[in-house]
Amino acid sequence: MTVALIVVLSIALLWTVVRLWRHGAALRRLQKAIFTKQPLLREDDPGALGESWDEFCDRTNELIEEVNHLQTLRSSQLAQFEATLGSLREAVLIVDGNNYILLANQALHEIFPQAVNILGQRLESVLHSAGLLSHVEAVRRQLAPPQQEIEFVDGNTSTWVEVTGTVIPPLDPARGTCALFVLHDVTRQKRLERVRKEFVANVSHELRTPLSVIKGYVETLVDGQEGVAPEDRARFLLTIQRHTERLNSILEDLLLLSRLESVTPGLKPEAHDPAALVRSVIDDYRARAESAGHPLTLHEEGGADLHSPIPLDPLRVSQVLGNLLDNALRHPPRGARIDVSLRSAGDEIQVSVRDTGPGIPAADLPHIFERFYRVDKGRSRDTGGTGLGLSIVKHIVQLHGGRVWAESTPGSGSVFHFTLPRRGEGAGGSGGSGSSR
Ligand code: ADP
Repeated sequence: MTVALIVVLSIALLWTVVRLWRHGAALRRLQKAIFTKQPLLREDDPGALGESWDEFCDRTNELIEEVNHLQTLRSSQLAQFEATLGSLREAVLIVDGNNYILLANQALHEIFPQAVNILGQRLESVLHSAGLLSHVEAVRRQLAPPQQEIEFVDGNTSTWVEVTGTVIPPLDPARGTCALFVLHDVTRQKRLERVRKEFVANVSHELRTPLSVIKGYVETLVDGQEGVAPEDRARFLLTIQRHTERLNSILEDLLLLSRLESVTPGLKPEAHDPAALVRSVIDDYRARAESAGHPLTLHEEGGADLHSPIPLDPLRVSQVLGNLLDNALRHPPRGARIDVSLRSAGDEIQVSVRDTGPGIPAADLPHIFERFYRVDKGRSRDTGGTGLGLSIVKHIVQLHGGRVWAESTPGSGSVFHFTLPRRGEGAGGSGGSGSSR
């Protein structure tokens, strides 16, 4: 009896231990399945741990599959989102409530090349702009204008960006109010706008003086009628004539410049002997140089090479040399020498106009090819300059595919060089500093 009881108890104990061990093993498999997100393996003998365990396994497997499916979906959506952001031309930036950068696309890096590996960094340590920070704050408080132009200054360069911001649902509640910004680089438009404004201001300024002089004298003549002495009348009319001519030169230069800058600059290139062209321009200026007391000499280096025809627009190239000679006659004082040299330099012809005038200060030299730039404004106007001559020179030379530049030693004189390629090539473009190549 006792033995039988012991046997029964031992069997019961063994059965309990086995069940406990199986439950423990099943729980470990469950833990592993959840941890690795792999479906839970069913017991070899279904029902061994009870029907409820089998059902539990089925539900757990379904959950794991759903989680896996959602994760795959999320990863592909994120990949799509990143690809879409990456392909946008507009820069996109997302920051959390503490201004930590959560997302930035490739276009942002193109606007701000210094912004590398910026995810997780604070906005203010990457993009230095008080304007941007206050805009970000205003967006969070929903007080920002729909768009704002913000300037980013880095050393001597400014980048202008149009920023549009909006609050977005938090990606993680712990991160506070997130905000998304779309940034559009408007630096080029800003620069063009500034150039246009400066140009309009310069043109108005240039036209105002001759116009007000003409207006004043005409009014005096009209109001004074018979009361103006004949010698005064003649003087007034001569002044009106001089200022009318000045207005005319400014308008002609402006029209030519706008034509040269247009898509159809109207150049008429033809095969032309460069030496013959330079000689004929020099001949045209010789009488004027002599009467102003300027010895004018032509030096040629290159023999027959200088006569091989090259493609050029004779009218425009004559204008280039004419403008340089005109400057050499107007800016240096009476008696200063003018030496023009023409030489063959490889696949180019180089023309240089040297004078022994006052020269150009080093600080002004990089700007003299800009429209309306003058070293001595009063002197340039008094001698009939429009401030557009060198700008016209630069455009014509570049349209021929050549280069133009100036060198000067203040007090000793200046030399202006331009080249023309032997084989014509349409160039163009703008720019222009001391050298304009
Ligand atoms: P401008 O009509 O005033 O001569 P330009 O565009 O031809 O206009 O020249 C720009 C400026 O460059 C001039 O105002 C002058 O200050 C300077 N410059 C040009 N050529 C000479 C020169 N040969 N000697 C000294 N300064 C010159």
